[in-house]
Amino acid sequence: MSNITENIKYLKSRLPSSVRLVAVSKTKTRDEILEAYHAGHTIFGENKVQELLPKYEQLPKDIEWHYIGHLQTNKVKYIAPFVNFIHSVDSLKLLAEINKEANKNNRIIPCLFEIHIAQEETKYGLDIEELKTILCSEEIKQLQNISICGLMGMATFTDDMEHVRKEFRFLAAGFKEIKETFFKTNSGFKEISMGMSGDYKIAVEEGSTMVRVGSSIFGDRIYS
Ligand SMILES: *Cc1c(COP(=O)(O)O)cnc(C)c1O
Repeated sequence: MSNITENIKYLKSRLPSSVRLVAVSKTKTRDEILEAYHAGHTIFGENKVQELLPKYEQLPKDIEWHYIGHLQTNKVKYIAPFVNFIHSVDSLKLLAEINKEANKNNRIIPCLFEIHIAQEETKYGLDIEELKTILCSEEIKQLQNISICGLMGMATFTDDMEHVRKEFRFLAAGFKEIKETFFKTNSGFKEISMGMSGDYKIAVEEGSTMVRVGSSIFGDRIYS
């Protein structure tokens, strides 16, 4: 077995069956993705629209594509016809644009709100208070072509795993509060997307339902 196949099998054997594995294939080639696909994996994550489009065109149509990167409103239209999940909604304006393009395509697109949990200033995302403001707005009630499925977060890039754990715990607590306040009777609000190659085990312990793993499957990236 090649490494990619082995890595996929290893990860799947370690993850609880309730946790979805998003194989982050950014910067990786069509052949590398196909190798994971032939190992039985069908959920892939990309963080750039211009990279996702040719991959979508060239790869099998039963692949489920998750968009995990920062998304500009003017690019939503390119992925709206096919994208299966958007993990990184960080404004009402973006959500409204996704809704508009989903409507044009006669689709409902599952979305997660990205919450800022890391210390780094550079990471995108909302804080919980900003999210509450969005969820209280009149405008969001009009959006019929998106489905709000939960929250996503990225922990600080650090070796201090107790710190990472605290950030994941904070996100899980935020999820619980938002669920109880806004989605109590909505069974679709159920996802916490957290955990990457270096910290997915901790994320799962803290309640992750979707891990986004790249380098532990495909090897190191030269650029990201
Ligand atoms: C690149 C990326 C990942 C995967 O990172 P690895 O450390 O390679 O597992 C996960 N989530 C997001 C948002 C990413 O951009």
